[in-house]
Amino acid sequence: MKLKTKIQLFSSLFMLLLILLVNTSIYFLFYKISAENELSRLSNETNTIVETLQANPDVPRSQLLKAFVPENGIIRVIDQNGEELIPTITKSESYTQLAYEFIDHEKRTIEKDEQGHYIAVVMKPIIWENGEVATLQVANFLIALDEMMHTLFYVLVAASLIILIPTVIAGNLLSKFVIQPIQKLIETMKINIHDKNWQLIEVENESKDELYEMVTTFNELMRQLKESFKKQEQFVSDASHELKTPLSIIKSYAELLKRRGKANPELITESIDVIEQEAERMQLLVNQLLDLAKNKQAFPHEPIDLVPLVKKVHRIFADAYDRKIHLDIAEKSVLIKGNEKQIEQVVYILLSNAIKYSEKEIALYLYVKQQFAVLDVIDKGIGIPEEEQKRIFDRFYRIDKARSRQTGGTGLGLAIANEIVKHHGGTIEVVSEIGKGSTFTVNIPMLTNP
Ligand code: ADP
Repeated sequence: MKLKTKIQLFSSLFMLLLILLVNTSIYFLFYKISAENELSRLSNETNTIVETLQANPDVPRSQLLKAFVPENGIIRVIDQNGEELIPTITKSESYTQLAYEFIDHEKRTIEKDEQGHYIAVVMKPIIWENGEVATLQVANFLIALDEMMHTLFYVLVAASLIILIPTVIAGNLLSKFVIQPIQKLIETMKINIHDKNWQLIEVENESKDELYEMVTTFNELMRQLKESFKKQEQFVSDASHELKTPLSIIKSYAELLKRRGKANPELITESIDVIEQEAERMQLLVNQLLDLAKNKQAFPHEPIDLVPLVKKVHRIFADAYDRKIHLDIAEKSVLIKGNEKQIEQVVYILLSNAIKYSEKEIALYLYVKQQFAVLDVIDKGIGIPEEEQKRIFDRFYRIDKARSRQTGGTGLGLAIANEIVKHHGGTIEVVSEIGKGSTFTVNIPMLTNP
């Protein structure tokens, strides 16, 4: 069943139930109050009859009773055997079918005859002429109440129908109001799936309700998907472009060797060197691409102390490069939760960049600031123009492509470092000035409960 039909059906049924409940209550309440009034009135009348009978013992009782007979009713006197002591007193023979019996206490009831008419009946014990106890039965056929109940029934049915019509219309409007944006969403999704499109939904509903939120969330999702899809496309095209360059160099040197290698032995050494260098570059690139593609969740996180980690990387670089690398560690131990190999990789990337893009002394600082482990990698090198500082963390972004290629750069190092640090809940920032140098600062939350 469609959502629209469900809403409509549910709201109409609910309203119908409510109307039925209210109207039935009105009907029965009205009946109860009216019948009770009639009974009270008849009971008073019966009391008056009894009092009059007592006050006038000499007047023949049937004579007296005749004076009290209700317009639409009867008066009966029943002896202890359940027989009538005098013929039923009535203005219409049709009322005499009412059943009777002897009872020795007062009784007030509303009864119904075979045709469904209401009758108010009051029975009261009296002392009859012969000194015996008898039952006085006074009954009144509630013709007016009958008619009133009929009229009320039709009025309530008509009122129910009149209320139900706007309810059905309101249900229809409500379902349309709710369904329309959902239908639009489904249609747009189908178009997007079919046409590989990123179509957005026009935001019409300004009331900032859930439907508005649904549409804006969908639009935001589409924007993010589009952006990530474009990034992926860009990444694949950049990656293949980057791989193409060393491949074509290798290919051209292989062809050169084929054509002129035999006759030219120096060419062989030169070509092999270039081929080896380009193969290494390709290997580095492929490894870095794999690093980026790896599922970061797959790396287990455990407590690590940054002090020995930074010392170790510092020693490796100090031994490998002929460069002064100043190390300053303010703490005895700096604990974070993370993956040792990945954090080492971040320090490697920052230090090798500092070495690549500077010629003077490099400094490495490790300290704690407001529950964050902070690592500063400072160089006095070429610096980074302000407008480029944000973009250097993008994949394959290199400021000076020619120079970067010379230094073996792929443009992936900072992107990898950024992803790793983000995955550790931290940030990497850069402060740099052209010609003066750069400071890369890594902030990673400290381990609070080791
Ligand atoms: P690459 O492999 O090219 O070094 P990165 O992602 O590590 O790639 O860096 C991106 C670019 O940012 C580099 O090409 C370089 O232009 C610039 N860069 C990175 N670190 C430094 C630095 N310490 N000093 C100056 N420029 C830097």
